[in-house]
Amino acid sequence: MEYDKIEVPDEGEPIEVVDEERIELDIPDHPIIPILHGDGIGVDVGPAAQTVLETAARATGRDISWLRVYAGESGREKYDENLPEDTVKAIKEFRVAIKGPLTTPVGSGYRSLNVALRQRLDFYANVRPTYHLEGVPSPVSKPEEMDMVTFRENTEDLYAGIEWEEGTDEVEQVREFVEDEMGFDDTFHEGPVGIGVKPISEKGTKRLVRRAIDYALEHDRDSVTLVHKGNIMKFTEGQFRDWGYEVAREEYGDEVITEDTLWEERDGETPEDVLVVNDRIADNMLQQVLTRTTQYDVLATMNLNGDYISDACGAQIGGLGIAPGANFGDARCLAEPVHGSAPKYAGQDKVNPTAMILSGEMMFDYLGWTDAANLVRDAVEATIAAGEVTYDLERNLEDAEKLGTSEFADAVVGRIEQLA
Ligand code: NAD
Repeated sequence: MEYDKIEVPDEGEPIEVVDEERIELDIPDHPIIPILHGDGIGVDVGPAAQTVLETAARATGRDISWLRVYAGESGREKYDENLPEDTVKAIKEFRVAIKGPLTTPVGSGYRSLNVALRQRLDFYANVRPTYHLEGVPSPVSKPEEMDMVTFRENTEDLYAGIEWEEGTDEVEQVREFVEDEMGFDDTFHEGPVGIGVKPISEKGTKRLVRRAIDYALEHDRDSVTLVHKGNIMKFTEGQFRDWGYEVAREEYGDEVITEDTLWEERDGETPEDVLVVNDRIADNMLQQVLTRTTQYDVLATMNLNGDYISDACGAQIGGLGIAPGANFGDARCLAEPVHGSAPKYAGQDKVNPTAMILSGEMMFDYLGWTDAANLVRDAVEATIAAGEVTYDLERNLEDAEKLGTSEFADAVVGRIEQLA
């Protein structure tokens, strides 16, 4: 493996595919794992998560050789590039990696590096579990009821980046095509306009929904809800729903039942051990996650809806400092917290590293290191429950002790050592 400016550690082994067909990975006990600390508060939460994760790996008889990779600010410093080829190549070759947040300028400037990474490496499912940790303050009265996992399609929708800026020749060409050739005259208002395209494909939809159903079956969940605005966007979001149901009906036999069949054939009575696939309109869903929290389980949706819904779910369990995530492709995983780079707190050793640490827990789960994953989660939960927390939680708790990012990580490390 040849790289320009990064050095692959001598110790440790790469994670490799053993069986292309079945997309199975061979996970050594001492893997090499690329880590990108990220922009803004990435400089705080990245090292904190690294310390916690390597402690949990060692406590369960394993080890990790980290391969530091760079993008965003650190990419510009080291390579004079936002997304160096070394970074893309390392995440691709080593298959399982973890990253902190990357800043995306709004309106002008370069396109999102997160979107570019997800698209280039075909990380098609962004998975965000939202569950409550004991002791975390929440704006709702029963935060423990929240236990959902959002599967967000990651490569298409309005996030595909197919858009044209007002005032350009390109946008005028698209306007002309849409009005004159496709017959949507008078659809655009007169004067400057920006235009974007929303692709939703059968391939993109089905592999995402399959992944959500597989997860729900493996984790003994009760339902998968397809979330869409198909009432308005019939040929994109409506088609997502139809393809989603097609997967459920055609590929899972008796293990899965769709909600309409349930009503037609069984009067709404759900048989035991069967996964129900239903659908909800996205705006309604944003209410339901709040008002009927216990009725939902696994959500499968497109890129934009998924972004909104997972943040709304995250708010119910204590906010962005807590919410973990991971991107999955075929035989690859890139763990990353839901939050962004929060530039105003960067480098202050102040913010909460829990989201990044728990993203690492998801990565451990993917590696099959369930004991290490449980250890991380138990240690984080015990630390928070003891009232040892960062500022974001401390300000909403009575009698809690305010710790900095690195102090919180040290407290979690201490608990891992006690619990192991
Ligand atoms: P943000 O998540 O960075 O911050 C919003 C607010 O959430 C912060 O002001 C802070 O109060 C709180 N917060 C976030 N993380 C926290 C933590 N770990 N501990 C405590 N509090 C925390 O969102 P933003 O301000 O909208 O975005 C800032 C930048 O991050 C933008 O450039 C955006 O594009 C980028 N971003 C990147 C990712 C990613 O890399 N995956 C995700 C979201 C946003």
